[in-house]
Amino acid sequence: MTTASPLVSAITSSQPLTDQVVLVTGAGSGMGRSIVIALVAAGARVALVGRRIAALEETAALVPTGAERCSLHSLDVSDEEAVARTVDEVVTTCGRLDILINNAGINVPVRSVADTAIADWKYVVDVNLNGTYYFVKAALPTMRKQGSGNIINVASMAAKNASVLSGASYSASKHGVLALTHLINIEEWAHGVRSTCVMPGEVNTPILDRRPVPVAAADREKMLQADDIGDLIIYLATLPDRVLIEEVTIRPRIRRVQHG
Ligand code: NAD
Repeated sequence: MTTASPLVSAITSSQPLTDQVVLVTGAGSGMGRSIVIALVAAGARVALVGRRIAALEETAALVPTGAERCSLHSLDVSDEEAVARTVDEVVTTCGRLDILINNAGINVPVRSVADTAIADWKYVVDVNLNGTYYFVKAALPTMRKQGSGNIINVASMAAKNASVLSGASYSASKHGVLALTHLINIEEWAHGVRSTCVMPGEVNTPILDRRPVPVAAADREKMLQADDIGDLIIYLATLPDRVLIEEVTIRPRIRRVQHG
């Protein structure tokens, strides 16, 4: 997961995202890390957002050829003031914001409707849904001024198929992210802004460590890998401006879990 995939290697020489400014949340691990590596390889300047600066530094160290094109921002995405400040900082430093990738997300171990603690419900909704909204709200004025912007929201297959496995707060928050994506397209298209909701099935990332039932190493190998999502993001990020892919479901071919 630390080297560029064949697709990313193939596009590295053409650098289709040169001078594009991209902000990625949840950049310190899993899909976010792969997304950053892929974007930098494609020539982008990338603002890495996450809770822990050490994790962001680890990601930046994995792109040594382009580390100077990364800026690191340690914050909690559920802190709306910190979000607004960070977007301001990026726009002031880079002069624009072309692509926003809302990827940060969490789940909690106790997931049923009856047993989810209210504090856990609020925490999951605050990070997965409210955090996404805060970034969208902060990014829109700049994107409107530019007359262009691409907002990619990483939700989950739980955005359409609520399940016991994903749980109450997670499923509800990801449904909200899908609805928000649709509304961005309904309201903002005339300002040049488009949005895609990426809905992955199981991906082998650290978030699986929080599953109430542990996932066997052999199963983790067979599911999607973080780099598969990095590849998808490069595809979405390099589409011509006239194209809108509003929803993408990406899942392992092997049906380990029934998503409906
Ligand atoms: P991950 O745990 O490696 O990544 C999530 C990242 O979000 C972490 O780096 C974490 O530090 C960051 N984050 C969490 N809360 C934050 C907060 N309050 N402020 C800032 N950063 C925060 O797992 P991942 O699988 O790479 O997750 C990426 C996204 O994909 C998440 O939105 C997740 O819900 C979604 N997703 C994952 C899977 C899967 O099977 N792995 C499937 C569908 C969707």
